[in-house]
Amino acid sequence: MAELNKTYDPAAVEDKWYSFWEAEGYFFADETRPGPRFSIVIPPPNITGVLTMGHVLNNSLQDVLVRFKRMDGFVTLWLPGTDHAGIATQNVVEKQLATEGLSRHDLGREEFEKRVWAWKERYGSTILLQLKKLGSSCDWRRERFTMDPGLSQAVREVFVRLYEKGLIYRGQRIIHWCPRCQTALSDEEAITTEGGETGHLWHIRYPAEDGGEGVVVATTRPETMLGDTGVAVHPDDARYRPLIGKRVILPLMERPIPVIADALVDPAFGTGAVKVTPAHDANDFEMGQRHGLAPLVIMGTDGRVNENGGRYAGMDRFAARKQIVADLEARGLLVKADPYRVPVRRCERCNTVIEPYLSEQWFVRMTPLAQPAIAAVRDGELRLYPERWVGVYLHWMENIRDWCISRQLWWGHRIPVWYCEACGERTVARTDPTACAHCGSTRIRQDIDVLDTWFSSWLWPFSTMGWPDDTPTLRRFYPTDALVTAADIIFFWVARMVMAGYEFMGERPFSEVCFNSVVRDLQGRKMSKSLGNSPDPLDVIRDYGADALRFTIISLAPPGEDVRYAVEKTDLGRHFANKIWNAARFVLMNVDTPQVAPLASLTDLSLPDRWILSRLQSVIDDVRAAFTAYRFNDGALALYQFIWHEYCDWYVELVKLPLYGTDVSSKRRVQTVLVHTLEHALRLLHPFMPFVTEEIWQALPAAKTTESIMIAPYPTADAAWRDAAAEAAVAQLIDAVRSVRNIRSELGIPPNTALSVRLAADGRRDQVSFIEPYMKALAKVDGVEVLAAGQRPAGEPSALVEGLGEVFVPLRGVVDPGEVRKRLERDLAKVEKELSGVEAKLSRADFIDKAPADIVDKERRRAATLRERKGTLDRHLAVLSASA
Ligand SMILES: [Zn+2]
Ligand SMILES: [Zn+2]
Repeated sequence: MAELNKTYDPAAVEDKWYSFWEAEGYFFADETRPGPRFSIVIPPPNITGVLTMGHVLNNSLQDVLVRFKRMDGFVTLWLPGTDHAGIATQNVVEKQLATEGLSRHDLGREEFEKRVWAWKERYGSTILLQLKKLGSSCDWRRERFTMDPGLSQAVREVFVRLYEKGLIYRGQRIIHWCPRCQTALSDEEAITTEGGETGHLWHIRYPAEDGGEGVVVATTRPETMLGDTGVAVHPDDARYRPLIGKRVILPLMERPIPVIADALVDPAFGTGAVKVTPAHDANDFEMGQRHGLAPLVIMGTDGRVNENGGRYAGMDRFAARKQIVADLEARGLLVKADPYRVPVRRCERCNTVIEPYLSEQWFVRMTPLAQPAIAAVRDGELRLYPERWVGVYLHWMENIRDWCISRQLWWGHRIPVWYCEACGERTVARTDPTACAHCGSTRIRQDIDVLDTWFSSWLWPFSTMGWPDDTPTLRRFYPTDALVTAADIIFFWVARMVMAGYEFMGERPFSEVCFNSVVRDLQGRKMSKSLGNSPDPLDVIRDYGADALRFTIISLAPPGEDVRYAVEKTDLGRHFANKIWNAARFVLMNVDTPQVAPLASLTDLSLPDRWILSRLQSVIDDVRAAFTAYRFNDGALALYQFIWHEYCDWYVELVKLPLYGTDVSSKRRVQTVLVHTLEHALRLLHPFMPFVTEEIWQALPAAKTTESIMIAPYPTADAAWRDAAAEAAVAQLIDAVRSVRNIRSELGIPPNTALSVRLAADGRRDQVSFIEPYMKALAKVDGVEVLAAGQRPAGEPSALVEGLGEVFVPLRGVVDPGEVRKRLERDLAKVEKELSGVEAKLSRADFIDKAPADIVDKERRRAATLRERKGTLDRHLAVLSASA
């Protein structure tokens, strides 16, 4: 008989099993194997990434799903890989260069790219190695990288196709410019500060050209006034009607500019009059186009005012702001400066304030691509979980803007466009051209920019499977079934993958998307590297085990709600693993055959046997239903409840009598049910806690058809084992035992003092005879007397057991009721005093309004507990008084 160590040591177990699974090829999805298939692709982590708690949650959920499907008979592919992460990686390598006193320009483009590749070879797989520590069962033979040759070919193919279709164009647009990174960013890379940032709303007077008062405009960025080419008001705004069509003088630049009427202006914002700066604001750019106001760029790519900014030329944008405000004030044109929460965007990579900037960039025309992606979600062909993301998705899709895809970086897929110096035409080609496609000149040069990193990741579900080639993997595993991802990349990635799927494959890329929770600290702040509030998951795995971390984080994560995590909470999973371990040790120590009999051979099952087997069928159904609805935490908690509270707390206790008894057939029967239930529970739990379940499963004396639990079948419920009568009988038994235990503790009767119990269970003698031996064993009761019908003793503490009757615990001869009564009265006085204190606090409006919500909640819970305790004491005292 196998034996388990006294305590569970994850470190000794986890690496061993991971290597075993990998060596056996269990992660490999064989496309030639027949049968149903299930596939998902990993949200590729950046090569600069290290494992965060967000990755832990996301990848644990994916692993639960694929392990479940694999066990459930599907040929299952979980395709892993990494993203080259343009800006992020370039920044990391530039920082490394800086320590050598070098910049990328010192190296030149080619050498710099070599440095980045070298960096990638050395560090780029760090996060994938960490995912292995977590137990992720990815098909590592299919690992891909967004800049490997195959994916680069897919990127090239897509660019050329979209260009030929007229869906890629080069244009002057307002884009988000990072003056530090010196590149354009997409909308999604320009992060809006929640609730804005501290700043001012400056009110500036633009005098009328004819000497009148003119208008007062309100702005948060006064320095951009240098580029104003107009002032706009709402057409229906009566205050300004006389000014429309007239001109005002732009202060400091002393330039006359027109007042125009445009419905885009919000009459309720500021003064209702706004300056129009087409080169430095996206709305103003559109307004300028509608009204023929030419854009005037007044800033360089480094964020300094350029030659169009008059005497402010050469000043940094923020220094210019100060100077301009001072100059306006000196001229009496600054009407006021109100404190204001300014909407600010910052660079996702370096946190520098973004400048809306007019620039020539490459764009993808998104509206036509969005149409099938909108229909798919509308018609339910593609489902999002939780459902509230549908509205968010549709709103973005219906208001989609063109996607700025060029980046002024060196690390990434270089834009496949060549400009001809002879004829000025562009050549866009699948393979690098040597001559102009229009005039044949060899004087061509390639566009120096690279593509947005997401321009490769939006192709991920099919480019990783070999597209544009027609590969067996693609034929077998595309479209994928599910995508499990964080919601913060719904626009960056998810929505764009849907569009790419329909455009290039003619099919949805996945049928269901599960958005996982956000992991926050106990104060509710999102865990992040910059805040330093995230534990290192590898430390947690070392200290608690990967199973404990996986189980805990999943249990804490209801779909659609945030997770509040702190390292100590991992005790939940650790204690659970230990509980199972100890239960398994108990079973192994008490089963004395190398292999137990099959369940079907048993005929004389007891009520507890029938109960636990019936409960097992319920939990199988519950866990399967939880997987289908992407409610993984419900599945985890259902298993926790079943294994801990039903199997360990009750079943194991209930069967100790026959197990330790002398009746050989009862003993065999109980051994069989113990092993059968545990073996099924382990298989159910395997997707959540792969390591501890494998370690125990391997030691169990059960009939097995596979070499590993990870390829054993996932349990299916068998209705034949459903037994409502057994469930009801054991529920009553549990309730009766608990009642006596509660009365004992509420009255302060020592655990070793034997009690006798009287039961008013009209006519349920059969049930009482079932219950009695367990009451004796589990509630330290020396006898159960069944009361005659209608008999109800006075002066004895009691509790109602649903479906059974009332349990009475006589005190005479056991303890001194007078002593108990005095003690309860003292307790009651204490509880009442405490309760009135809490209630007084809760009735004060200043406490309810001012105290933090969690403190108020805590006090409310305290009041409820005290009220309940008071109720119990009142009840017992009433009974004890009746007996006096
Ligand atoms: Zn930046
Ligand atoms: Zn040419």
